[in-house]
Amino acid sequence: LKSRLNDPTLLAAKAYLAGNWTGADDGATFEVTNPARGDVIATVPDLGRAETARAIAAAEAAQKDWAARTGKERAAIMRAWFDLMMQNQEDLGIILTAEMGKPLAEAKGEIAYGAGFVEWFAEEAKRIYGETIPGHQTDKRISVIRQPVGVVGAITPWNFPNAMIARKAAPALAAGCSFLIKPAGETPLSALALGVLAERAGIPAGVFSVITSGSSAEIGKEFCENPAIRKITFTGSTEVGRILLGQAAEQVKKCSMELGGNAPFIVFDDADLDAAVEGAIVCKFRNNGQTCVCANRIYVQAGVYDAFADKLAAAVDKLTVGDGLDEGTDLGPLISQAAMEKVEAHLSDATAKGATVVKGGQRHGNGGTFFEPTIVTGATQQMQFACEETFGPLAPLFRFETEDDVIAMANDTIFGLASYFYAKDISRVTRVAEALEYGIVGVNTGLISTEVAPFGGVKQSGLGREGSRHGIEDYLEMKYICVSV
Ligand code: ADP
Repeated sequence: LKSRLNDPTLLAAKAYLAGNWTGADDGATFEVTNPARGDVIATVPDLGRAETARAIAAAEAAQKDWAARTGKERAAIMRAWFDLMMQNQEDLGIILTAEMGKPLAEAKGEIAYGAGFVEWFAEEAKRIYGETIPGHQTDKRISVIRQPVGVVGAITPWNFPNAMIARKAAPALAAGCSFLIKPAGETPLSALALGVLAERAGIPAGVFSVITSGSSAEIGKEFCENPAIRKITFTGSTEVGRILLGQAAEQVKKCSMELGGNAPFIVFDDADLDAAVEGAIVCKFRNNGQTCVCANRIYVQAGVYDAFADKLAAAVDKLTVGDGLDEGTDLGPLISQAAMEKVEAHLSDATAKGATVVKGGQRHGNGGTFFEPTIVTGATQQMQFACEETFGPLAPLFRFETEDDVIAMANDTIFGLASYFYAKDISRVTRVAEALEYGIVGVNTGLISTEVAPFGGVKQSGLGREGSRHGIEDYLEMKYICVSV
């Protein structure tokens, strides 16, 4: 891997705590493997609570000075961090693909996406405005200021090893918080590379730290139980989100949670079918189906059901499965054996209940955790994927008759992150967009992620929003000052 990089020093194999590159107290390490080839690509420190507690203490000390700087100063340093990410986009992409498996083009896209949050929030650092309120009594003057929450503990998943960190670190640092990230055990290298660039950009020691650990539950407990941590921000499964919320309740910590989804993708009779197929391909198969905003349930109206299924199958035929580092790969491997078994479980549940496999359906000839992009028809609300995320390249097509029916089916889930639909009728577009109980609605598009919009879910998909001018709110406290003159 090192030999493929222009700058091999981006491949760090130590944790970055309090501005120092260190190992675990007991020297423990864990291995990082390439899911496409199964080979070990790095060994990183396996930190525990003791090292984490020291890193938190350093972050607490560093936060005061960071918050005391002007927004403009923080913005300039963050801008330098952004520039370094973009200058090293190729290398960061290669590291990301090697540890996670997604095609290099997607990995480089993710680097630009993640960097976009750093650029956006660097700009917002200068605009953390307060307000004045006319007093309630003649002698009273009321003003409102917004201050950083303090030290932030972040935990992120493996499916976007760069962007899920950047999306949290950027508003935190812009607000004047210090930030500790515990990346997923599968993908610590992208996080460490961000640490290398943070140091180069001049982010002060302790303001951005990377805690690599194979025992995430322990780090999660330290974040929740250490009183210096004032906020927990998490992206991952709803199950782990619930655990963290429960633990954080003890000290009433602020929490941002970006949890699971179960995105409906609806194709109405009046849709542009070719556009809908194109949207479905990116929405379903991007990152091999391993995103929390991936189409999980594709609802197609009866009048276009067969035509859509045929066109989708033809488009899937053109997808190439392979090593993400190879030219021309559209779909990489799944992250793990367990991920592949989940796809198989959803598939066999569906076929047992009457669904038909019209494309794929098998482990891919490449071996390992490669799986064929798969389409099933005849999907129903009784099948497992109707209520659970598959997180893999399985596209189930549900048939529906009326708008009311499909809205009821689309909303029949505990999740509420992203949703999509294709239609042309302007009244329908308005009605359906308003009726979907989701934080995000894509209309005639399968791609909705951008740093300029507020990303987040309703129901059990989470708390808070990331991106846009609203994204910084989760990292600020409001204080009102009442002066008697
Ligand atoms: P995924 O299915 O995407 O791996 P998880 O919710 O299991 O989602 O993992 C997301 C992140 O949460 C990872 O960094 C993982 O290491 C971490 N994690 C898993 N279990 C816990 C836990 N009990 N406490 C804190 N973090 C955890």
